[in-house]
Amino acid sequence: MKVQIEDKEFSCFLEYEKIKKRTRLLGIQLNVDYENRVPVFIGVLNGSFLFMADLMKEVHVTAEMSFIKVSSYMGQDTSSGVVKSVIGLDIDLKGRDVIIVEDIVDTGITLSFLLDVIKKHEPASIAICTLLLKPQSLQHEIEEIAYVGFEIPNEFVVGYGLDYKGLGRNLRDIYRFVPDPTDT
Ligand code: 5GP
Ligand code: MG
Ligand code: MG
Repeated sequence: MKVQIEDKEFSCFLEYEKIKKRTRLLGIQLNVDYENRVPVFIGVLNGSFLFMADLMKEVHVTAEMSFIKVSSYMGQDTSSGVVKSVIGLDIDLKGRDVIIVEDIVDTGITLSFLLDVIKKHEPASIAICTLLLKPQSLQHEIEEIAYVGFEIPNEFVVGYGLDYKGLGRNLRDIYRFVPDPTDT
């Protein structure tokens, strides 16, 4: 199946059923790893909203949840790189087991910045749970990335929370951009 968003055509890449299955397994893993602890899940908006919702339905340990936003200089269809600030961090994270929930880790620049900010709050532990990871794009190893839904090639994807020019977050499946071979 294909979708058209503004000037670009995208083709289906990861169906929701497959995302759901993988999310269930991540949940099982988290339930084991955080048994008898009360972790704080921090979803990074906007991209993580659907993944966070589906993931939390699979997590059965007593948990706290919150959302933050990382404001950055806006890029169009690639990572913007320059990060400014974190908005909405309203929980005391000192001594807590923190799990950051991300839609996608591309270069890792956003995440590195976020980790620096969160580490200043002296949590007991920090782990990253990301639905998607682009290993070929990652600029340096981030040891906190403990839970990965899918490793994907270095292509632009949209849907299931991820946007193209602010659009397409509501798509149920994940689509990838297919360059038109006739384009120069
Ligand atoms: P970073 O390069 O810092 O790891 O990624 C920063 C942000 O760029 C991600 O949180 C996400 O919002 C956006 N991004 C990176 N790759 C993609 C992609 O393939 N599709 C979409 N929609 N956003 C992406
Ligand atoms: Mg994100
Ligand atoms: Mg975006």
